[in-house]
Amino acid sequence: MKIEILTLFPEMCETVMSESIIGRARSAGKVEISCINIRDFAGNKHNKVDDMPYGGGMGMIMAAAPIYNCYKSLYNENEPKPHLIYLSPKGKTFTQQRAVELSKLDRIVLLCGHYEGIDERVIEEIVDEEISIGDFVLTGGELPALTVADAVCRMLPGVLSDDICFEEESHYSGLLEYPHYTRPAEWNGRAVPEILLSGNHAKIDMWRRAKAIETTLKKRPDMLQLENLSDLDKKCLKMLKDEQEKSENLK
Ligand code: SAM
Repeated sequence: MKIEILTLFPEMCETVMSESIIGRARSAGKVEISCINIRDFAGNKHNKVDDMPYGGGMGMIMAAAPIYNCYKSLYNENEPKPHLIYLSPKGKTFTQQRAVELSKLDRIVLLCGHYEGIDERVIEEIVDEEISIGDFVLTGGELPALTVADAVCRMLPGVLSDDICFEEESHYSGLLEYPHYTRPAEWNGRAVPEILLSGNHAKIDMWRRAKAIETTLKKRPDMLQLENLSDLDKKCLKMLKDEQEKSENLK
C-alpha cells in the first residue's frame, strides 16, 4: 500500500512515520509512505500558500492552487485518481472499522490543513472523504493524518507479528480488550489473576473473553447490550464470576 501525506510540515510527519513498528514496516517494504511539502507547489516567489479570508475574519486560509497542484503531481491522467482524504474536524469520526476498510485500498492520500483551514473550492474539486479524529480542534491536520496512517498501517498484512494481535484488540470486533499483565506475578501487593498462571489455555481464553465483555459493559456501555450476549459469552461470564468468588474466598 502507498500512503502520501500532503502537508506544510513534512519533517514532522516523516519523523513520526520513521519510528517503531511503522518505521520497520516501511524498511521491510510492507508500506510505502511519502510526506510531500505543499509549499513546493506554491508557484510564487515567496512560497506563500495562505491568504486572508474573503468576507473578513480572523486567521489565514490555505489557498486552493498549491494543494491542487501538489495532488495533481502525484499521478498522471492515465492512472486512477488516488483516494484523497482531507483531515477535518467537520469530517466523519474515524473508527477502527474505517481503518480496516482503508487498509484494503492500494493508495490513499492524506491532506493536512492548517491555519483556519483550506479554500472550500479545492475540497469540492478533489476531496473524496473528510475524516475527523474527534470533536475538538487541533492546530493542523498532521496529528490526525499520522493517527489515520498509523491505524491503517497496522492493519496491513505482516506489519504486526500476527493478525491475532489486532483481532482481539479493542474495537476490532465490537468489544474493548481484556486486561494484560506481565512479570512479576505479584507487584505492590497486587497478584496476577490466578487463571493466567494456570497454563489452561481453554480456560484462559474464556476468562479473557469474559473480561473483555466485563470491561466493555463497565467502560463503554454504549457498545454492548447484555441481552445480546451469546450462550458461550454467558458461560464465560459465569466462569469469571466463579473465579472471582474463589479468589475472594482465599483472601
Ligand atoms: N476553522 C476550522 C473549523 O472550525 O472547522 C478548523 C481549522 S483547524 C485550526 C486547522 C486544520 O487542522 C484543519 O484544516 C484540519 O486539517 C486540522 N484539524 C483540526 N482538528 C481536527 C480534527 N479534529 N480532526 C481532523 N483534522 C483536524
